[in-house]
Amino acid sequence: MPVMNPFQIAQRQLDQCAKILNLDTGVQGMLRVPLREVHVSLPVRMDDGSLSIYQGFRVQYNDAKGPTTGGIRFHPDLNIDTIRALAAWMTWKCALLDLPLGGSMGGVVCNPKEMSMGELERLSRTYIDEVAHIIGPEKDIPAPDVYTNPQIMAWMMDECSKLMRKPQFECIAGKPIALGGSAGRGDATARGGIYTVREAALESDIDLRVATVAVQGFGNAGYHAARLIHALFGSRIVAISDSRGGIHRREGLNPEEVGQFKARNGSVVGFPDTEPITNEALLELDVDILFPAALENVISERNAQSVRAKIVAELANGPTTPEADEVIYKNGIHLIPDFLCNAGSVTVSYFEIVQNFYMYYWEEEDVYDRLDKKMTTAYHSVLNTSRRYNINMRQAAYVLAVERVVDAMRLRGWI
Ligand code: NAD
Repeated sequence: MPVMNPFQIAQRQLDQCAKILNLDTGVQGMLRVPLREVHVSLPVRMDDGSLSIYQGFRVQYNDAKGPTTGGIRFHPDLNIDTIRALAAWMTWKCALLDLPLGGSMGGVVCNPKEMSMGELERLSRTYIDEVAHIIGPEKDIPAPDVYTNPQIMAWMMDECSKLMRKPQFECIAGKPIALGGSAGRGDATARGGIYTVREAALESDIDLRVATVAVQGFGNAGYHAARLIHALFGSRIVAISDSRGGIHRREGLNPEEVGQFKARNGSVVGFPDTEPITNEALLELDVDILFPAALENVISERNAQSVRAKIVAELANGPTTPEADEVIYKNGIHLIPDFLCNAGSVTVSYFEIVQNFYMYYWEEEDVYDRLDKKMTTAYHSVLNTSRRYNINMRQAAYVLAVERVVDAMRLRGWI
């Protein structure tokens, strides 16, 4: 069977949840598709004087619970179905974390690694110009995702401000701290994920002080996850990978040193005193905790049976296919599903917008405490729901999130 695209997967996950909740088929049909999406062509003047046209998207999946929020991804392999899936997962994520927000997602088909800073800035500003009519703090708040960063968010916020003719800090999340970003936003995805891993380890009788860890993807999510679990608990990072390959050292790696090496050399590959390991083999290592922190569909029916980790903490969006989910569950592996595990970023994005509106900024420790409370509460709600219905953690997360969105739609009179 061909691997499904992420949106087909998101729809299939929703269908499973609809069955568990005995949802009305009309309501299910409404939740299977986005409320609205915008496709734009973005002309950008390149440094050599030529004009390139990039394809961009913004998908607003469901705003029953409030203005939508979601990332902007710059990636050469991006397509509309990936964006739709990410927008759907964002909807469930915000509902699961009990944030007063709906879900959206956007992106541009481009290869930022081949673009200059000037070209990236012009692309970022043009994207905002073309979607300005549907975004804003009361409508839809963009945030960073793969290959977008605080600098790109700063340009986007500046462009929104120019269009509105007033400072509009609250229209974009994930900004640099000097421009209204929140303390603790930089590593929020990983930190939130680590809080759920801490709870999962207690449930699974794993002592994090001696636990072994493998991390696939060494960007914002993967790097900080490795750094934090090592620094906070002393866990041993035995393997790390990125798009060029991986490294393995049984005795453990210092994530900060690997991070510095990657910053100098562009990849973790070649880090001294390590064995090379492929991305596929890393997923099959006998470790306590596996962090898929790169792209979608990396754990599928092809390799699910070979996954030996005790906890799979999905920092990436959509790393496990539905067929693989069943295998993982049957094999007794404790999987922390993506829209729970990586919800730290949207939670701190929400904190950021609240702080922007109030023009009053919290200390880092305040942000960590509030994030810990949100993540820990959500983790235990999902765990209790999975036990109550005898379903896996992903289905339980869906049940909770979909129930909340459906309640909001019903109260608004949509259904
Ligand atoms: P990033 O661009 O900072 O890093 C991505 C990393 O993955 C890089 O190290 C890259 O080399 C690696 N990679 C790319 N292709 C790969 C492949 N085929 N095999 C192995 N590694 C590969 O991105 P990020 O922000 O860390 O996002 C990673 C995942 O986490 C994505 O699924 C994203 O949607 C999800 N996520 C990120 C955030 C966030 O705040 N950054 C929030 C929620 C979810």
